[in-house]
Amino acid sequence: MEVNFESIDPLTRQSMERNVLTTSLDQVKAWARSNSMWPLTFGLACCAIEMMGTGGSHYDLDRFGVIFRASPRQSDLMIVAGTVTKKMAPLLRRLYDQMPEPKWVIAMGSCATAGGPYVKSYSVVKGVDQIVPVDVYIPGCPPNPAALIYGIHKLQEKIRYEAKTGKRVTSQ
Ligand code: SF4
Repeated sequence: MEVNFESIDPLTRQSMERNVLTTSLDQVKAWARSNSMWPLTFGLACCAIEMMGTGGSHYDLDRFGVIFRASPRQSDLMIVAGTVTKKMAPLLRRLYDQMPEPKWVIAMGSCATAGGPYVKSYSVVKGVDQIVPVDVYIPGCPPNPAALIYGIHKLQEKIRYEAKTGKRVTSQ
């Protein structure tokens, strides 16, 4: 049904202009999703200690709607925190595949980003983006909780941007 706004009295029209917000359903969903991210606990090495510290009461990730889950079925974010060995790689991929769409990945620390100090090791994957698509990379050995929070904010911005433009940008 088409609404003729000219027929609405000026006072009501003025009030509508001030109080009514129009947006797309996709943008509302992206806003809700970005403010309620449930990461799968995926601590692999020392970076995981900083991730756990970020979830504690001092930094309080819950205030951003970030609540860790122990099951991939309930998660939409994988924070890969630590060294990814070649032995662990297939399991990481399997857990990623078990997460429902839409889903996102943060590579936390130098090891997850590019192999870190073990870049020359025969047993270490040189970046988790060789196994799963990565949305946000957080450098550091290890990155501190403030860096992880910053990375999560960047991911929230990315989710909202993707909903607005209809484009998905990942490492793969
Ligand atoms: S980046 Fe550094 S702190 Fe993080 S898992 Fe690798 S060696 Fe440990």
